Amino acid sequence: MKVTRRATELRARGVDVVDFGAGEPDFSSPAVAVEAARRALADGFTKYTPSSGIPKLREALAERYHRDYGSPWQGGDVLVSVGGKAALFELALALCDEGGEVVLPSPCWVSFPEQIRLAGAEPVLVPTAPEDGFRIHAEPLIEALSDRTRAVLVNSPSNPSGGMIEAADLRRLVAACAERGVLVIADETYERFVYEGAHASVATLASEFPETVVLVGSFSKTYAMTGWRLGYAFGPRSVLGPVADIQSHVTSNPTSFAMMGALAALREAEPDVVRMIAAYRERREFLIPRLNEVPGFSCRPPSGAFYAFPHVAEAFEEGRRGSVAFAEALLEEAAVAVVPGAAFGADDHIRISFACSTETLEKGLARMSELLAGARA
Ligand code: PLP
Repeated sequence: MKVTRRATELRARGVDVVDFGAGEPDFSSPAVAVEAARRALADGFTKYTPSSGIPKLREALAERYHRDYGSPWQGGDVLVSVGGKAALFELALALCDEGGEVVLPSPCWVSFPEQIRLAGAEPVLVPTAPEDGFRIHAEPLIEALSDRTRAVLVNSPSNPSGGMIEAADLRRLVAACAERGVLVIADETYERFVYEGAHASVATLASEFPETVVLVGSFSKTYAMTGWRLGYAFGPRSVLGPVADIQSHVTSNPTSFAMMGALAALREAEPDVVRMIAAYRERREFLIPRLNEVPGFSCRPPSGAFYAFPHVAEAFEEGRRGSVAFAEALLEEAAVAVVPGAAFGADDHIRISFACSTETLEKGLARMSELLAGARA
């Protein structure tokens, strides 16, 4: 967000900034969602709703996960939240305490460690490796468990790395955690953005481990509905009960008419989703080989999500050593906004979002190449 703010400042001064910073789809929200929300507003659906969300949306979510993953969850087993971010924070508040720990793979999304710390616990970061495509393995996570572990938090596909966990690893992890009574929270925000292999969802394990798996999802990325602020969490009542209590005191409920839009998206926007995913796939195929031609960059194709996470340390030099200084140089000298890897715990990397047009990608690539080739000349 800091990068986006500075990029906005430069734009306001007339600089034509290429923005690879924001993790936000460039597509419009599906027309069916917009129309349903408009209708809900016109019909006066503008009052408080039940705190955990409107029953129709909760039931439609449960049906969708049952259809796609065979999960046993009913409408009463899902809580709709003000973005996936709020569900994750409410979970952290419900589960964490002083001295507690949450185990998670690294690099990881910036908000995970902050939310865990805000809730009084400590994040325990377990590294994943670029040589391995940042794949998430069960064993190192299991080895990091202790009697202080309150939960394991797995984000697959991962923001920022695009790394994923395979089904066998997820099962091993969930089984090992269940033996110790530890919860596995799966943040499946990027569930639909998969280019290699298949998405492994904890929803497929919910029948077998009903008390120890939680799934967090979001309308933001899949449906290009970031500003609507709608996400959700499935899980056992022992966990969702306290989460719902917290939500009732913080946001009361997700926005009434936004939920009507989300319901329409869930029921009718699949063709939009398929079209958008095809575009992300094309952009990834365009971007990655060209990124490897930028002097000092090396990048493996991400398995999922919509970010490239190149290793850029070879391009560091005096005045721009480390990912923060490097990202500043790209912004100030090439008018390209990226997120420094340090934000995610990986200082030799930068994150480039390909949730933008191929023309934008081409322009940004040319600018970065020019700056870095010039530096080497
Ligand atoms: N989880 C991950 C890994 C994300 O990258 C994001 C957003 O960037 C979220 C959750 C939350 O998204 P939202 O609050 O928009 O649903």
